[in-house]
Amino acid sequence: MRLDDFDPNSINVGDQRGSGFSMGGAGGKVGCGSIVIALIAALVFGVDPMQMLGGMGGVETGPVATQGGTTATESCNVDAVSRESCNALSSLNKTWAPLFDSAGIPFTPPKLVFYSQMGRSGCGAAQSAMGPFYCPSDSGIYIDTDFYREMEQRMGAGGDFARVYVMAHEYGHHVQTLTGMADQIRSAQSQNPSAANRLQVAMELQADCYAGVWAGRNRDRIEPGDIEEGLTAAHAIGDDTLTGGRAPEAAWTHGSSAQRMEWLRRGLQTADEDQCDTLAEFRR
Ligand SMILES: [Zn+2]
Repeated sequence: MRLDDFDPNSINVGDQRGSGFSMGGAGGKVGCGSIVIALIAALVFGVDPMQMLGGMGGVETGPVATQGGTTATESCNVDAVSRESCNALSSLNKTWAPLFDSAGIPFTPPKLVFYSQMGRSGCGAAQSAMGPFYCPSDSGIYIDTDFYREMEQRMGAGGDFARVYVMAHEYGHHVQTLTGMADQIRSAQSQNPSAANRLQVAMELQADCYAGVWAGRNRDRIEPGDIEEGLTAAHAIGDDTLTGGRAPEAAWTHGSSAQRMEWLRRGLQTADEDQCDTLAEFRR
């Protein structure tokens, strides 16, 4: 997807990469003791303590922690994938803000937070293995860009559109928070605990559909192969595919591969957020 004409100064960006910020209280394997040991080892052996901590972060194949930036422009220019995430966020803001305007709902843009291996969010500790996520209490989209390598190598879902689809899905949760849908689903879940998982799936599929709506409204930016990359990613992260078919449908949280592809496609084809009513079955 062609997204290289956006200005990183127009977005909110946080960066926890390589700052040491993520080391304390993240609940991972690195505690204060390790930091002290690392610092001593650093003094004795002349090793960069950040590199040592990065290497002890408990991520099996994780590389040395990426250094972040201090301004949005710096953070967005750390590497090509950061730049792409920033561009996607700019584009998402530009697409969604007018839709909120015309619906008469106040719009506030989310914040993109980069972290490496471990981070801290308003919703608790962030770990790379969790994959990108959205935290409603601080309106943050949290991304460890190393996850995208995992997605490509382990799940076979590579390509720029696969990555921006994930980003647009998390943005979809921001949209649901602003529209009140997220709260409605939470209260429906507490009133009807036996439907909690089905409601959760409906929320996730709506975020997939919203991701499609964004792409569908930026059709002129879509390049050959993008749609296929998105659908491959949507397939790869379906609950049935991720669990090798072992999880019963009642335990699904994000929907099957077929459902995820279907809702992403629906958003793409209609470019109409009103077509993303995954909750229709609950109102019958
Ligand atoms: Zn989600």
